[in-house]
Amino acid sequence: MPSKTIAKKAKKVAKKRAPKAIKYVYSFGKKTDGDAKMKNLLGGKGANLAEMARIGLPVPGGFTITTDVCVEYFANGRVYPAALKSQIADAIKICEKESGKKLGDEKNPLLFSVRSGSRESMPGMMDTILNLGLNDKTVEGLKAKSGNGRFAYDCYRRFVQMYGDVVMGVQARTENEPCPFEHALEVLKKEVGVEVDSDLTEGNNKEVIKRFQALIKDRTGGAFPQDVYEQLDGSVGAVFNSWENDRAILYRQKYGIPAAWGTAVNVQLMVFGNLGDTSATGVAFTRDPANGENVFYGEYLINAQGEDVVAGVRTPFPIAQLADDMPKSHKELTVVRKKLETHFGDVQDFEFTIEDGVLYILQTRNGKRTGLAAVRIAVEMTKQKLMTQKVAVMKVPADQISSLLVPIFDTKAIKNATLMAVGLPAGPGAASGKIVFNAVDAEAEVAKGNSVVLCREETSPEDLRGMIASDGILTSRGGVSSHAALVARQMGKVCICGASDIHIDYGAGTITAGKTVLKVGDFISIDGTTGKIFAGSVATAPSEVAQVLAGKLKAEKSYTYQMFDQIMKWSDKFRTLGVRTNADSPEQSKIAVAMGAEGIGLCRTEHMFFEGDRITYMREMILAPDEASRKSALKKLLPFQRKDFNGLFKAMEGRPVTIRFLDPPLHEFLPHDDASRRTLAEHLNVSPEVISERVHALHEENPMLGHRGCRLGISYPEITEMQARAVFEAAAQVLKLKKKVKVNPEIMIPLVGFKDELDHQVAIVHRVAKEVQAAKGVKIDYLVGTMLEVPRACVTSSEIAKTAQFFSFGTNDLTQTTLGMSRDDAGSFLGKYKDLDILPQNPFATLDQEGVGALVKLGVDGGKATNPNIKLGICGEHGGDPASIKFCHNVGLTYVSCSPNRIPVARLAAAQAAIEAGA
Ligand code: ADP
Ligand code: MG
Ligand code: MG
Repeated sequence: MPSKTIAKKAKKVAKKRAPKAIKYVYSFGKKTDGDAKMKNLLGGKGANLAEMARIGLPVPGGFTITTDVCVEYFANGRVYPAALKSQIADAIKICEKESGKKLGDEKNPLLFSVRSGSRESMPGMMDTILNLGLNDKTVEGLKAKSGNGRFAYDCYRRFVQMYGDVVMGVQARTENEPCPFEHALEVLKKEVGVEVDSDLTEGNNKEVIKRFQALIKDRTGGAFPQDVYEQLDGSVGAVFNSWENDRAILYRQKYGIPAAWGTAVNVQLMVFGNLGDTSATGVAFTRDPANGENVFYGEYLINAQGEDVVAGVRTPFPIAQLADDMPKSHKELTVVRKKLETHFGDVQDFEFTIEDGVLYILQTRNGKRTGLAAVRIAVEMTKQKLMTQKVAVMKVPADQISSLLVPIFDTKAIKNATLMAVGLPAGPGAASGKIVFNAVDAEAEVAKGNSVVLCREETSPEDLRGMIASDGILTSRGGVSSHAALVARQMGKVCICGASDIHIDYGAGTITAGKTVLKVGDFISIDGTTGKIFAGSVATAPSEVAQVLAGKLKAEKSYTYQMFDQIMKWSDKFRTLGVRTNADSPEQSKIAVAMGAEGIGLCRTEHMFFEGDRITYMREMILAPDEASRKSALKKLLPFQRKDFNGLFKAMEGRPVTIRFLDPPLHEFLPHDDASRRTLAEHLNVSPEVISERVHALHEENPMLGHRGCRLGISYPEITEMQARAVFEAAAQVLKLKKKVKVNPEIMIPLVGFKDELDHQVAIVHRVAKEVQAAKGVKIDYLVGTMLEVPRACVTSSEIAKTAQFFSFGTNDLTQTTLGMSRDDAGSFLGKYKDLDILPQNPFATLDQEGVGALVKLGVDGGKATNPNIKLGICGEHGGDPASIKFCHNVGLTYVSCSPNRIPVARLAAAQAAIEAGA
């Protein structure tokens, strides 16, 4: 080995052995240590400042003190690591060399900004200090150097205020008290007759500074420090301390940012937008963050500094105007705009300052945007080759795709409307219509050609017809997973629930909110996206995407649709999870297929028993005293069911259709008020007492755990038989149609906990299938499976899989039975649970992965152990929730099923899950 190489190796080994001093300080500017990938250590702002310096953007130099220092600082009782001081001193030397100025120099002072910056941006939550390095002497140096006394004292005034506030804690002492510095400034401005800060003279500023310093003395007993190193020390400490201020803590809680991350501190050479009319400061977006349009977007203020633009003291100008005001800088900014997007591969939200005609970039980050903008930006940036398709799919928050589908209130109309109250936004979109209180009135009004909003304290399956007829549903009770919300989402209805500030008086026929009283028949408007309830009618506009999907608008005519369609196509390319829909009618199914459904994952047959005369036959069946009369009533129901399934099979054109047999407790179908009991008694030719007795007999203390699900089919096998017959006869009809249509029914037995329960029901299904196939001379491809919705089924899934050809996780009931929590009653305590972080997510909206999810996993593993090819789906509300969909992908389900309007969300979320898992 040549000796040179040996020496090198020895050096390497020595380096490894010697404890390397931890690097706490990273420079950026002409010498740059960090880059964009180091967000964890340098914070978002620091990492991107380094990156921008690297790619040659005009970033004022400086250094970043790492998040590690913050973590150590708090761990050691707010004491800095010993090695920090000398590393900062070295970094300052570099700044001094690069700028030719010196910190604390009375002739040519160097000024710093001290800025916070955590891994994820927490806008406005932590503190910033500008113009550090000024004192009674250096301010004169700045004045001499710039030849501008107003400017020098403007900077000093700002610094004393920020330092006094952030470091020395001189702040408003009560909520009603104004900021004492702002107050003192206002007083002086009045005295001298000045409106805007930038019009204060050097003398005015001097006077304000004197008052500020007196205020600090008065409040703290201490003096504003003249020593610039003490200023720096205090400011760095204050920025670290701001990580633990109330605002920051609250923000972290809301957005799930761990306290353990800490913040970095950026110390940066000041540049001055307040140097006169050739200087300015501003913020800009590389594209419009509201609608995504590829236009330069932003605003600026001339002769201003720091937060002036956002603070709203003066109204800033739109960025386009800069082309006239400062054409050279505007041109440079357009170049920066392009460079930022190209380099970061996403829309950037950036800050700039122009100092006497010279442009500086102070910050950049990925811009926050609306759902519409997210889609447009992803599609257009991919077309421009600034993003890959995978990145584009990842860039649209799955939930937000639905904002392209909902009808919206006309923005002008909303401005003139009367806001009554705000409830829980449960079904996004806008609906306006006449107030109705029940299903009968809803249908009657709609028959007359009116649109209605069904307003109820809460809804039950009995209201279904009314819900179908209505444009919107409003309830004063119940949460976002209440019956009303669930059905509304499935039907794509606008819905607000739990609007506790409105009072619905069925008797008086009124809805009251504060001073506003509306009567049945009056107009009401509800915005299910925001939860806002308006008195009167507010004009709406349907979404273009919905119009195209319904065939009412040509795709070529709608750019919004084309963007939507593009994101969906890319999603389908990357996802492996299937997406089905929960639908009960041909109309719903057709919409679902247009949205991209690959089958029906849950058809709730009980909803089919409420329409028209059916409920009467259903009641006749339930009230039947013996098997013979029950069979005769079921015979009347058979043609209805057969017709329904026939319609579904035709609409789904060979896609799998999962049909769940009768599930809810029977008493849900019974008449609960006197009038309808009398009508039924007349129809059945019995006395009303008989009806009342039977209703009474069917009463259950806890119907959710009572006589329902497969327990019904086991008690009354003739119900299962009728439903099976309806399915197979409908299948036979469709198979015999001239126009060839395939049929793929998947019969699903609910609430199974024991294999023997399933065996009992499956035997009936197979027998009927055989009979019908023989009688009709057709062969029907069908499956029989079960829902896994009680823990016992998950635990014994390997046994159950011996009979079941598929599993579908009914995670609504599985959540109820695993947590021992009733979905309809949990609203009264889940709020508190959320506040206390006991259950940060509503488990009925987002799957409880550790608990319920573990049972799902158990169910999957058991099922696959017995039958490696078993089909696995989910049909609870969770099937439309992005976080839960990700779980479903990772646990290896075959498909998720959700309401038609959630299908685009599910397709996108499934693609994102696959990409994240490394597809
Ligand atoms: P935030 O994270 O709250 O946006 P910043 O650290 O970005 O806080 O600082 C707020 C503002 O202060 C910036 O928008 C910028 O206008 C101004 N500022 C920060 N550093 C400098 C600097 N080195 N020179 C001039 N202005 C600065
Ligand atoms: Mg900023
Ligand atoms: Mg269930």
